[in-house]
Amino acid sequence: MYKLDERLAGLRPVVAKPNECRIRLDANESYKNLPDYIIEDIQNMIGKMEFNRYPDPFATELCKGFADYYGVRPECVTAGNGSDELISVINANFINKGEKMVVISPDFAMYQFYGELNEKNIIRVEKDEDFRIDIDKVIDACRESGARLLCFSNPCNPTSLGVARDEVIRLVKSVDALVILDEAYMDFWDNRQSLLDVVEEFDNLIILRTCSKALGLAAVRIGFAVANVTLTTALRSVKAPYNMNTVAQIIGTALFKYPDHLRENTREIIEERDELQRLLMEMNARTGLFDKVYESNNNFVMARSEKSDLICSKLRERSISVSNHHTFIRITVGRTRENRAAVEALEEIAAEIK
Ligand SMILES: *Cc1c(COP(=O)(O)O)cnc(C)c1O
Repeated sequence: MYKLDERLAGLRPVVAKPNECRIRLDANESYKNLPDYIIEDIQNMIGKMEFNRYPDPFATELCKGFADYYGVRPECVTAGNGSDELISVINANFINKGEKMVVISPDFAMYQFYGELNEKNIIRVEKDEDFRIDIDKVIDACRESGARLLCFSNPCNPTSLGVARDEVIRLVKSVDALVILDEAYMDFWDNRQSLLDVVEEFDNLIILRTCSKALGLAAVRIGFAVANVTLTTALRSVKAPYNMNTVAQIIGTALFKYPDHLRENTREIIEERDELQRLLMEMNARTGLFDKVYESNNNFVMARSEKSDLICSKLRERSISVSNHHTFIRITVGRTRENRAAVEALEEIAAEIK
């Protein structure tokens, strides 16, 4: 009789329940679909596709489009089925079972999820009261434990805070661990804070990027790992050869043909984010609903309250979904009218629960 491994027997799949809310500000997606001219371009390209052939294992055109847009060398780029796949593949293959990996809490939950699944020995370094990262504490934790892997997002999901480039460089230089630096949201902050331009100077750095956020392609599942040629060769060798299907490669390649659109679109989202943040801060100055509304570097705004469970359920009653982190909420930027409706709803809720 086959007995399911105990490690798996307790697991349950992530249920992404269909979100039927009128206003969906919970998943950090882009609120805008692709423009019609890009969709037409994609349709034409898919019309000419050889459906009977296996995909290009290195997603050459797609990686080249990405590399041109961000100013890196295509030899240093590996495409994945969302950066989620890359997090999983690196975690499974670049360190061994029982070896130590450091995460900085709170951060994106998938680092720890794959670490636990792959039986890595996880060390959590806590952020301070205000969600700041003490870089020296992280360096000490890596050195003292002999960690083989360190994963963190910059700027961070869910805290929306960023660590300045010089500090990240100091961290990467100070540890022997492989560092996965997840820059999924860097486009919303400042690409001058990115380490993409110096990635080849480090033998222990893999930078992750995604098409799911600023580039508005969450449905298609495209992520990238950028690293020196040695790490890139290893990563390309352990990933599934046909991890990127041809449809996704075509869509991503088409998208990077329109760099002006991408930059303009990102700029618009940042403007909406700033406006959402301003409205939330003003509302909060009137009502005191939150202990603090944080300045965001991402496409969402974080606001802190011990009553976040109650606030989220009251938003739900109004058919507005946000992400609840139990001591704070994360509100993804939406369209102007959606952001306004959410802030108005919060103003009402403040009056109800004060
Ligand atoms: C959304 C997100 C990603 C992107 O994941 P994909 O699999 O590329 O959609 C990666 N890292 C963080 C921190 C995220 O929030």
